[in-house]
Parts: sequence; structure tokens; C-alpha cells
Amino acid sequence: MASLRFKALETLSFKNFRQDNAVEIPAKLSELFCQNVFSEETMREYLTKDAFSSILDAMKKGSKIQRHIADQVAVAMKDWAISKGATHYTHWFQPLTGSTAEKHDSFFTPIEGGGGRALERFSGSMLIQQEPDASSFPNGGIRNTFEARGYTAWDPTSPAFIMGTTLCIPSIFISYTGETLDYKAPLLRALHAVDQAATEVCRSYFDKNVNKVVPTLGWEQEYFLVDSALYQSRPDLVITGKTLLGHSPAKGQQLDDHYFGSIPTRVMNFMKELEIECMKLGIPVTTRHNEVAPNQFELAPMFEEANVAVDHNSLLMDIMARVAHKHHFHILFHEKPFAGVNGSGKHNNWSLATDTGENLLSPGKNPKKNLQFLTFFVNTLKAVHEYADLLRASIASASNDHRLGANEAPPAIISAFIGTQLFGVLEELEKVKDGKLSPEEKTDLKLNVVGKIPEILLDNTDRNRTSPFAFTGNKFEIRAVGSSANCAEVMTVMNAIVAKQLQTFKKEVDILIEKGLKKDEAIFNVLREYIKVSKNIMFEGDGYSDEWEVEAKKRGLNNLKTTPEALKKELDQKFVDLYEDLGIYTHREIEARNEIKLEKYSTVITIEATVLADIARNHIIPCALNYQNRLIENVRGLKEIFEEKEFRTLAKEQMNMITEISSHVSIIKVEVDGLLSAIQTAKSAKDSQTMAESFCNDVKPLFDKIRDSSDALEMMVDDELWPMTKYRELLFTR
Ligand code: ADP
Ligand code: MG
Repeated sequence: MASLRFKALETLSFKNFRQDNAVEIPAKLSELFCQNVFSEETMREYLTKDAFSSILDAMKKGSKIQRHIADQVAVAMKDWAISKGATHYTHWFQPLTGSTAEKHDSFFTPIEGGGGRALERFSGSMLIQQEPDASSFPNGGIRNTFEARGYTAWDPTSPAFIMGTTLCIPSIFISYTGETLDYKAPLLRALHAVDQAATEVCRSYFDKNVNKVVPTLGWEQEYFLVDSALYQSRPDLVITGKTLLGHSPAKGQQLDDHYFGSIPTRVMNFMKELEIECMKLGIPVTTRHNEVAPNQFELAPMFEEANVAVDHNSLLMDIMARVAHKHHFHILFHEKPFAGVNGSGKHNNWSLATDTGENLLSPGKNPKKNLQFLTFFVNTLKAVHEYADLLRASIASASNDHRLGANEAPPAIISAFIGTQLFGVLEELEKVKDGKLSPEEKTDLKLNVVGKIPEILLDNTDRNRTSPFAFTGNKFEIRAVGSSANCAEVMTVMNAIVAKQLQTFKKEVDILIEKGLKKDEAIFNVLREYIKVSKNIMFEGDGYSDEWEVEAKKRGLNNLKTTPEALKKELDQKFVDLYEDLGIYTHREIEARNEIKLEKYSTVITIEATVLADIARNHIIPCALNYQNRLIENVRGLKEIFEEKEFRTLAKEQMNMITEISSHVSIIKVEVDGLLSAIQTAKSAKDSQTMAESFCNDVKPLFDKIRDSSDALEMMVDDELWPMTKYRELLFTR
């Protein structure tokens, strides 16, 4: 019987079947834009003037929506959705499982006593709230002790959209006792906090016209595509999203010609269809290209307001999986699906924008604007310095552990790259005199330091790709986020820490102003102190190098290489205080979320270990023994035919191979037994933190030993017998 591997390869060779999904991009993609979104434009058309302006206020200013308005919006949404072929509606939310969730309800309602008549109904209360079965979502113990139910609530700041025949309403997910159970609720709180703090700073020192500051996010999503038949042939890919075994193709040669090379036709068709779907849903995708690894690609939209951008990324991941399926691909978001091949990240480009149309991290045209830029720039660096561990924890996951600190990914040390020239500006600012400045000193500072920034940035072309946090001219790029992550978590942290930092800044500047310093002097004085203390996270060198690890240690920076280490920090009092002060999480929510992440980590490692053990025992060992038997038969045959002396020479290599196979089989057997008992030991740990540490330190290291022997066997065993689809087949199919 043919193995799964050969059946899969056979399926793949039906070229026509694989190539037939040709996709044509319409001449004007713009005409598709927001076709399936209940956008501002659509709302204007479907709502009365009153309703439209109050929903706009809710979206832009966060004002409350009155009940009769909600009813109007609901009816409008329903009419619009039905005109688009929708029959159901759902609150679309992002529980802590990491994927999206929805519970579909029909618009259809029989009329009570209507004698068999029915109508389509959707009211304000249905729009505002829904009650999904909350018991199946992670809650970190929150719901067990109190109320077992949870509910979803409409987030009017992110537009509703249609997927298939369902009207999807972006929502938050909370327990009946008010604890947040999703990614969006805390994000909204953090966005609000940074809006308030940044608006205060703008209005007090720079621009009275600013009434709102909105964080912006432009993510870049990396991913792998694997033929779906080949994917199905690898139980490890199917169950864990990554290969647990497999000899990597010779490094370099085959890999180099992929980057920016031509995109295979089938992939191109996938990308075209994806773009069309994104356009309809209002996701403004603009770039598509190959990535460094074979079968690896990237997609990036225009940046958007952070909340919408986060929703769009979650939505995109759903759509990608669906579209890939249509083109007989499976999409892999895992950070490291293939050993020895580049991993995938999700770079988060972040900035702050005012309602007056300014980017606060973009240097301006005059010294005043530049001082505003420097204020937000330095405060961001200070925030990252102060809360580096929290930022690190926000991107921690079992799968991202494979990437961070590996040779082609940012290190687990949080440092910031700002470019040598901006670094120079900060060094100048560091020299600013304490207290009052003379008129000459002020002029000099404005003309020669602050005034120089725009031209400096123009030639700041060398953007450091090896830094986890890089300033790239008008935004910071957080490069260590994992490709499978929900952007919300890192965005919650980023905006929370900057909010907190800006609050502190405002207080400190005001104190100096009260003491008689001019506004500018006060700002310079405070920034100078910030630069002094934050300087040790600024690093312009190669973040991938070993020297940096040594240097970072000298500077006292943490290098939290594993998820359990990173998560342990999350409960530090300083971080709890931050969240409580800003009203983002309660202490209980912090603990619950930490618990959920630790549990998830242990679960992921358990599943990987179990799958690895199964494959090793049921596929690899039998295959190796099978091949060994062939060798043994060969040796026996030779012995029958040849004289002793000749036999010894002719059978020598085969006999060596027989021994070698036995030794690998024995290693695999022993290590698998060890693995299974290590899992049991880990599981008996007294708490989630200790358990995760045990999985990290006692279970995970055994994977490598099993893999090494299995990969060695893959190189020895007859290709015809090898049961697992090989890397060269998974990675180089077109
Ligand atoms: P690259 O870094 O690839 O040369 P860009 O500088 O144009 O290209 O932008 C990279 C990413 O940064 C894009 O995804 C874009 O949407 C995002 N981006 C650009 N400006 C901002 C901003 N002000 N806020 C957030 N993201 C931004
Ligand atoms: Mg990038």
C-alpha cells in the first residue's frame, strides 16, 4: 500500500487540477473597496441625519449611543446586509484562544400568532449585546468562581462587515462580572488611555487644536503556503502547525533565489483572490512579495487606526485560510514551521496621529514641531526602557520561542534602534544645562540641534533589521511579534506604557514650569533626564550577534529567552500598578491572563511531544527496521554467494549501516520513553508557572535528540520507504 507521502505526491502531480483556479483582478480594485463593509459612506446612505451624526460621534469621540439610535442603526444594518444576501448576524469577537469566534443567529423571526407568517428582525438590543456560550473559551479561572456566563458587546469604533451570508459585528467579550475575556476590550482601554495622555501633552505644550490622538498600526504579515495534499500527509503539520521532524534541505543554494523572485502561478492566483476579498472587506492591502524562505510570503496593508488594524489582521488570517483552501494550499502562521529555514513574524509599525492630521512621530518643518516630535519620540523610548519586560512578555508564546533569538530573528533582548544621527541628537540634548537657559543657549539648541532633525532623517536610510524595536523615520517598528499572534496584545502594552509615560512626563514638566522655567526649558530638562536613563536600551549594532548578548548583559538588560521566563515577569508589582492605574486590567484579570498563557504553553508542548512520540514509534522506527531488514537480507545473500574474505569487504558498509540504524532506533526508543515520563513529571507540578518551566527545561530538550536521530535515518533509508513527506517536497512545490 502506498504511504500517505506517495499518495500526496501523486495528487500533487495532477498539474491541471492544481493550476485551474485562475483569478482575474478587476481593472479598478478601488471599486471593490469596502463593498462588504457597513462603512461611513453606507451609513450615510442608510441612516437618518440624526442617527448618522450620533453614530459618528460614537466612533470618533466615544460618546454613548442612545437606545432609539441603536434601533435605527440595527434596522439600517439589517436592510443593508439583506440587500447583500446576508441571512444571519453574529457578534464577531476575539477570545483568548487566539482565533476569532462567532455565534450565528438568524434575522428570521416567526410572527407570534401570525398564522405562519414571519419576518426579518434585528433590533438595537440585538446589535448591542449577544450571549455566546462562554464556557468553551479560556478564562483563567475567572468564570468558575463567579457567574458562568459571558456576553459580547458591540464596538461601534470598528465597522460591521459581511462574510459569506453573515453580518459580522465587531464586539468585545466580557464575563457577567465585568472581567474582560478577550483581546479587544483591554486594547480599547489602552487606546483610550494613550489618547487622553497624548492629547493632554499636545494641548498643553504644542497645539491647542488637538482634541484626539489615535494610535496607528501598520502590520506586515508573513506566512508559509504548503500544498494541501502534502500538508495532510504530515500529522505533525496538521496537529501542531509545524514540522517536528525532517532533514532540512542544504542551506543556502536553493533558498537564496526565492526572495523577490517570481511568484509561482498558483500562489499568484491565491494572492489575487486574497486581495479581492481584502478589498471587499475594507482591508487596504498594498504590497505582496516573496519572503526569504521558499514558499514564504508577506502581505502588508496601509496602516490604519490601531483598533481597526487589529481587527483587520484577525479577519485577514481567517480569510487567508479560506482562500488558501480554495487554491489547494494550507496556510501556516506558525513562527517556525520548518527547522533550518527562516521563520515568520508580524512586524507591527506603530505611531500616534492627531485629529489635526499630524503624525506625532514624524519630525516637523520647524523647531517647535521638532520639539513635539522629540517629546513623543523620547517618551516612547523611555516607556520601552521602563517596561521592556512587559513588552517582551506580550510577544511570548511557545511558537515564538523558536524564532526570537534564533539567527534570523530579533533577539529576546528588548533594545531600540534609532539610527546614528538621531542618536547624535539625543546626545546633544543630553548636554542641555540644568535649569534656566540663556537666550543664546536656547537659540543654539533650536537651530543646531532640534532644527536639524528633518534633513538628518532624510539620509537615515540604514534601517536596522536586527533590532526588535526600530525607529524607521516616522514610526516605530516592533519586529519581534510572532506571525500567529493577535496584534492586540502587543498594542495594548505599547499604548499603555506610552500613556503612563506621557502622564508622568506631563507632571514632571508642569512641576518645573511652576518652579519658574519656561515651557521649552522645562521640556528640555525632563527629556534630558529621560535620555540619560533610557540610553542603555539604545543599540545600533547587529542584534543577531553573540557580542550583543554579552554587551546587553553588561548593560543590565534582561534576555528572557523562553516564554515561562518572560511570563513570570508579567506579575511584577510595577506592571500590575501600571494596568490598575490606567484601568486596563484588574489584578485578577492580570493573573487570569497570565495563567491562560502559561497553560497554553504547557498544552502546546504536551501536544507536540505526544505527536512526536507517536510519529517516532509508529512511523519512523518501523520504517527504519523495515529498511534494516532489507540490508540484513542483502548481507545474508552476499554471504551465500561469496567466500568469507570477499564477503567481508562487500558487506562492510551494509553491516555498518545495520549497526547505525540500530543505534538510532535505540536512541529514539529511549528518548521517547524519557519524553513520555518527563511529560508526566511536568504535569504533576504544583502550579502553572512551575509546570511551564518544567515543560520548557525538562521536556522540550528531548525533542532535539529524537529529531536528530530521525533526521539521520531519513538520510539513510531508501527514499521509497520513507513515510514522512520531505522538506524538499513540502517547500519547493509550485
Ligand atoms: P518599508 O518599511 O517596507 O520600507 P514603509 O515605510 O512604507 O515601508 O512602511 C512599512 C509599514 O509601515 C507599512 O505596513 C505601513 O503601513 C506602515 N506605516 C507607515 N506609516 C505608518 C504610521 N504612521 N503608523 C503606523 N504604521 C505605518
Ligand atoms: Mg518591516
